[in-house]
Amino acid sequence: MKLPMTCFECFHELNTPQYPVWVEYQDSHLYEFECPNGHKSHAILQQQKLEVLFSIGMHAITDGYYREAVASFASSLERFYEFFIKVKLLHEKIDSSAVTKSWKNVAQQSERQLGAFILFYTQTFNEEPLLLSQSNTKFRNAVIHKGLIPTKQEAIDFGQAVLDVINPIAEKMTTKFKDAIIEFTFMHIYSYSGPRSAEWNPSTMNSPSLLNVSSRNPGYVQHTVADGLEHLIKMKGFGAIR
Ligand SMILES: [Zn+2]
Repeated sequence: MKLPMTCFECFHELNTPQYPVWVEYQDSHLYEFECPNGHKSHAILQQQKLEVLFSIGMHAITDGYYREAVASFASSLERFYEFFIKVKLLHEKIDSSAVTKSWKNVAQQSERQLGAFILFYTQTFNEEPLLLSQSNTKFRNAVIHKGLIPTKQEAIDFGQAVLDVINPIAEKMTTKFKDAIIEFTFMHIYSYSGPRSAEWNPSTMNSPSLLNVSSRNPGYVQHTVADGLEHLIKMKGFGAIR
């Protein structure tokens, strides 16, 4: 379960796409890696946590860990609600330090976050949001809390159900919160940058996921979990995963 990274030095020297360097996923969004030609790279991953979690779910399916896939997709959806709430508050010009302080009151309880999401969504779009169905919520709880071992197809279907909740909302956000999403992405990258030096001069790495919540352009094509799995399996065929 690794993330494909590109060595920019190889790319510039050889001017052709190189085999990816596979690195372990990091909670910090910071990556240090060395390519087979000995170039050392530092990178900040541009994607939000929810996208990383969704990608981990995809890897888990290809690796045969279906419970872990369901858990990662479920976490991805929860982090999407957080993304919506924080982008919405940025759009409303709420001071980021106030948001940080308020978030601490809901950070430990996903039900509170879901409640905030439902009401902010309703206020923004004048309609109730589409949520995960009751049967899918029950399935998630059985996997996470009761040790249910899902089949591969059940894990794929659950991932698709999460995608079907996120996609239409992400589309609406692209129009409604365009500037706030760009600003939020910059804040995300900047928060990991720190002072630059010869030893610490990270590049920004973009590793698109099926969600692409922060970089959708007009005419963005949505792909299914099945499409994504086919692509991932092909990617894994490019060079051995070290
Ligand atoms: Zn290199």
